[in-house]
Amino acid sequence: MIRAAAALVAALACVGADAEERTPPAKLQVGTSVGQPWSGRLDTGIAMPTEGRHHRFTSTTKKRGANFGSQALVALLLRAAGTVDHYVQSPPLVLGDLSRCGGGKLGGHKSHQAGRDVDILFYVEDTQTQVRRAAVGFYDFDAEGRCTKPACRRLRFALRENWWLVRTMLWSKRPFVQYIFVADWLKARLLAYAEKRGEHPEILRRARKVLAQPRNSSPHADHFHVRIYCTPEERARGCSDGGPRWDWVK
Ligand SMILES: [Zn+2]
Repeated sequence: MIRAAAALVAALACVGADAEERTPPAKLQVGTSVGQPWSGRLDTGIAMPTEGRHHRFTSTTKKRGANFGSQALVALLLRAAGTVDHYVQSPPLVLGDLSRCGGGKLGGHKSHQAGRDVDILFYVEDTQTQVRRAAVGFYDFDAEGRCTKPACRRLRFALRENWWLVRTMLWSKRPFVQYIFVADWLKARLLAYAEKRGEHPEILRRARKVLAQPRNSSPHADHFHVRIYCTPEERARGCSDGGPRWDWVK
């Protein structure tokens, strides 16, 4: 089982165009994040499949090949998308950029350089039929949860599915999630929904810290930006977290 999983990971790994060596070194660590999210790199990035049972990518991200992440990030995304569907029968999760194969600078972003960042489009629902739909693009949602652009006028921020995604990430131990950037007014909607449904107090406490509107970029009313911490193994190999370290992170 472990050998099969390792073979799958190796098959999905990006080994770089100049890799002449056919047999990988015995201790090759694939999908390792190195350095900081805004100046680091990705050692042998793992390709998140561009289409899966519970997710898909935007066409822009597919075209630019920004579907590579650390092993921990790719595992978290696959698990989270499956969990949301399992509990509330969601449409596919739509993903934007992770990182490029080897990480480094990626147009339009300050971070996304070390395989620990991902942009995730919101789950949406039809305002008239309440049918849940896969996200259609990066469109802003207002304080009532309504999409503000004509192209998505009938769509609303789907609280149930988006909350399930957030709570799954908040509960993850491997990796731990440092930030979920999102606009203040959407954070308020999510927290109000979670409190009303009697959410576990520890998850609510984490949500108040981890959900945050960034101060030096867009408010994030059109997607979540999720950033994970380095794993202990990555830290030993040069991975570095900036910013806060929450008290539940070991
Ligand atoms: Zn982002």
